[in-house]
Amino acid sequence: MDLKSKIAIYPDFPKPGISFKDINSLIKDGEAFHEVTDQFYEIAKALDVNVVCIPEARGYIFGSALAYKLGVGLVPIRKPGKLPGEVMAKSYKLEYGENTVEIQKDAIKTGDRVLIIDDLLATGGTMKAAIDLVELLGGEVCGALFMIELTDLKGREALKDYYVRSLIQFP
Ligand code: IMP
Repeated sequence: MDLKSKIAIYPDFPKPGISFKDINSLIKDGEAFHEVTDQFYEIAKALDVNVVCIPEARGYIFGSALAYKLGVGLVPIRKPGKLPGEVMAKSYKLEYGENTVEIQKDAIKTGDRVLIIDDLLATGGTMKAAIDLVELLGGEVCGALFMIELTDLKGREALKDYYVRSLIQFP
């Protein structure tokens, strides 16, 4: 199946100059979503992970389906103030400004083998922050999976020490 053709592109969204890749057009297509989940599973089953980590919000979509297939649990990474109990926070730079993400401190145990999955790799900042949180808690990051990779933004360079796979590449 040509998964790339299922991604709708919106020029100048959310601001002028940005060519927005919309995953919603793919996930509403049951066969395409199934195919994506199967492809993620084929990659992930070799990594022998016991945790799938899901950055809010679109990592949840793919991570949930994948964790179910793998038979492992999920660990969310969320925007500040959403997670109860003790949390670990990590801030990272955006093109303009800064973002912070959090994880529950007891969510990862030393030696956990963790796969992190998100919808899209742009600069890699979001994924690197997620990796840092998992490692701070003693987890081993065995892979970073994305449905879409914007290759011009060279996010792989920020993740060069990790196993990175994407299913669809733009341009
Ligand atoms: P990064 O941190 O620069 O790699 O940006 C990745 C994050 O930005 C992902 O979590 C995406 O949800 C979001 N993102 C960036 N560009 C797009 C896009 O074109 N479509 C959908 N999401 C995007």
